[in-house]
Order: sequence, then structure tokens, then C-alpha cells
Amino acid sequence: MTPKTALTIAGSDSGGGAGIQADLRTFFANGVHGLVALTAVTVQNSLGVQGFTEIPADVVTAQIKAVASDMGVNAAKTGMLATAEIIRAVAKTLDEVEVGPFVVDPVAASMTGDALLREDALEAIRTELFPRATLITPNLDEVRLLTGVSVVDAASQCAAAEALLEFGSRWVLVKGGHMTGTADCVDLLSDGREYISLSGPRYETENTHGGGDTLASAITASLAKGASVPDAVAAGKKFIERCVAEAYPLGAGVGPVSPFW
Ligand code: PLP
Repeated sequence: MTPKTALTIAGSDSGGGAGIQADLRTFFANGVHGLVALTAVTVQNSLGVQGFTEIPADVVTAQIKAVASDMGVNAAKTGMLATAEIIRAVAKTLDEVEVGPFVVDPVAASMTGDALLREDALEAIRTELFPRATLITPNLDEVRLLTGVSVVDAASQCAAAEALLEFGSRWVLVKGGHMTGTADCVDLLSDGREYISLSGPRYETENTHGGGDTLASAITASLAKGASVPDAVAAGKKFIERCVAEAYPLGAGVGPVSPFW
């Protein structure tokens, strides 16, 4: 039987922990066929991102059109988009082809603090992609960059969700994984009417490289299979919890969340 398809529009991680490598194995683990529009090639290992080269924007567009016109896309997600030019090209292409539910993970920097976007490109994600998104999945650093809100508790997490929804996505998931001083890891999902708090265990590990990509990909896979946004996010959270619980050290720096379980 032909599986559903999910498209990742994202960069390559030479260390195999994040980026399209994480996306493709998450799609596989969740039973959907992974499609790729590569945006950038990063040079990185567990210690950080040493640099990246972006793919020409017209080649990104051509990859999306090639797979959408022939194989069909049941859901899509973005990860590292590298430049404002690529972001604008993706936005224009999404007006021309059908990709189903669209998840935007507004990746700005790696957890080692290295930039994955050229200057000012986060603003292009906000203006060009958020209004087209079914769901956006910022972490707390990205929330602060996008809204100026520092999330420290449930009230500020709610205020951040409201501020982010103003940018035009249907749903927002404000991820609480980077919040300090909380026993659980609490994410807030909202469409402005429903406010759904998703609580899960916080695992003590340094090895969380690729966690954001893996969560967004797991959600996208469920959306490709027809789940509602709340159901897809709940399933994605269960999936990433297992990946973080099984995360392993690799290299001298930050190891990856694990696909082995
Ligand atoms: N490299 C690439 C290509 C990515 O897409 C990402 C995240 O989206 C990262 C690195 C950073 O991953 P992390 O912040 O989990 O280290």
C-alpha cells in the first residue's frame, strides 16, 4: 500500500542529528514517505555549526514543485531555511502548489548558539510563512526573538501564544522544553479559542540535538495521515519524549535525541 507523504523543506546536518536527517528518520518511524527540498548544507558536529552554504532559491522551488506535481504532498514542514530569499521563494511556491497542512518550525540558531539563518531572515519567516502556516512551533528563544516575550511561567506562555497568533498562523505550539525551574516539560497549544496544555516528563540529558526538528516532523507525519492538529501534537510529544529519554552521547559536545527505541 502506498503510504502518505510528508515534505521537509530544510537543511542537512553533517552530524546526522538534526535537519533533514532527523526529519527523514522521523517520517520513516511514523509510517510516512519522506520527501525533501534541501535548503542548505551545514558543516557541523556535536560541538557546533562551523558554517553553511545555501542552495539557490530557484533550486529549492524546483524541488518542491517536482515532488508536489508528481507524488503529491500530504503535509509539509520547514526547518532551517537559511536566507530571506529562500523563505520568499518557499512562500511563493506554496501559493502555486498544494502541500496540505503546513508546519513552520522557525529555526534561527542551533542549540550550540550558531546562526542557521542569515541576518533578518527570521523577520521573513514571520511575515511570509506564518500567515500560510497551519501550525508554528517556536521554542522559548525563538518566542523571545519573535515577540519580545520572555516565557517564565504559564501566564507568560499564554501571552506569548496570543502574540504569536497575531502573526497569522492557525495554531501555535509554544514549547516549554527550555523553561528552567519546572519539574515537567509543559507545552501550550492554541488557536486563540482553545488553550491546550501538554505536560510531560523532563528528562535530565545534555543530548537534545535535533529535538525540535524531530518533534515538528513527528507532528507533520501525523498531519499527513489525517490527524487533527491537537491529536498530531499530542502524538508528536509522545514520540519526542521517547527520543529524548533514549538520547545518547556522541562526540565531545551535544549528542542527538535517539531514533532507536
Ligand atoms: N542543523 C540543522 C540543519 C538544523 O535544521 C537544525 C535545527 O533545525 C540544527 C542544526 C540545530 O539543531 P539543535 O538546535 O537541535 O542543535
